[in-house]
Amino acid sequence: MNLIVGGGVVGLSIAWRLARAGQDVTVIDPAPASGASHAAAGMLAPVSEVAYTEEPLLRLGLAALERWPAFAAELEADSGLSVDYRAHGTLDVAFGADDLAALEELAAFMDKLGLPVERLTGRECRRLEPMLSPSVRGGVLAGGDAWVDPRRVTAALLAALETMRVPVVLRRATDLLDGAVRLADGEILTGERVVLAAGAWSGELADVPVRPVKGQIMRLRSPHPLLGRCVRGMVHGSPVYLVPRGDGEVVVGATQEELGFDTRVTAGGLYELLRDARELVPGVTELELADVVAGLRPCTPDNLPLVGTVRQGLALATGHHRGGVLLAPLTTALLQGEEPELAALCSPQRF
Ligand code: FAD
Repeated sequence: MNLIVGGGVVGLSIAWRLARAGQDVTVIDPAPASGASHAAAGMLAPVSEVAYTEEPLLRLGLAALERWPAFAAELEADSGLSVDYRAHGTLDVAFGADDLAALEELAAFMDKLGLPVERLTGRECRRLEPMLSPSVRGGVLAGGDAWVDPRRVTAALLAALETMRVPVVLRRATDLLDGAVRLADGEILTGERVVLAAGAWSGELADVPVRPVKGQIMRLRSPHPLLGRCVRGMVHGSPVYLVPRGDGEVVVGATQEELGFDTRVTAGGLYELLRDARELVPGVTELELADVVAGLRPCTPDNLPLVGTVRQGLALATGHHRGGVLLAPLTTALLQGEEPELAALCSPQRF
């Protein structure tokens, strides 16, 4: 029996894949799918993330992206629900000469890595995305990037688990024992292996270097599709992105704040997001505000996740920081012993 502590996109993906492989699984979470996975934009964008990323993380991201089409198709088949997987790329745009130079540097780095990118003039950017600001001077299209709706992904995972009769215990874990978990009411569940997948809260249950990094993000509702692909850019020195959903929603994200477990949505955070998003796509301020949330990214000191066995009976699957949705399919594979070279990058023994 595998006891998965934490039912975000990471824990639920592991539970689903293990159950699919015929293993016994139980998920423990007082509020499944309510953590960072509820807030996430859902970009599967290792290529356009290059600017914010180190090379080992890029390797993990590219391997994860390759797994997404099959992961999405199998999940949709098992659950009967759509996850809104789309692979139309990310358009990174620039306004000023400095931004353009930074984008060119990024494009040159991508070329060096052999990643598919296309340099575009301002006019070509607007031909692709007519709602872009007329001040956009140029851009880089990472055509291989994709995205999903993480709320649909976790809903589909929960539905697939229900179909497979995998128990989801709606209680908080307080202690991890060897091959067992103590719950808040004192009950002890036993199994052969405990997998800690409690995101930003993992450090409360084990000695792991995971800290929360707050991100505020908003969803706007548009009667017509505003964008055909993910659009991102640097505005006033901070990155902002817009992610279109199949149902007309546009996600605008996200702040990065080191404020511990604070999940308050602030006026300043929203102001920053809207101000910067309007620079990219002026029409956003006309849209209806659908939802604003703050989530906690589980961050490690080297920004790489912690995946693998710590000792007999305890494994980690946490610390996915900015890329837990992207990395979920790969994480399950690494835990099952696939791709040992990539698994070594995520080894918990490195700390
Ligand atoms: P979570 O989703 O936080 O789940 C952890 C779960 O553990 C929760 O359900 C919680 O209830 C449970 N838990 C906590 N304590 C206990 C306990 N004691 N007992 C039992 N259960 C417990 N990633 C991408 O790939 N692409 C993106 O575009 C992207 N955008 C993001 C935007 C924002 C604003 C934020 C905040 C994050 C974003 N991320 C993105 C990162 C991504 O959301 C995370 O890396 C990912 O959700 C981590 O998943 P998780 O399952 O580890 O954690």
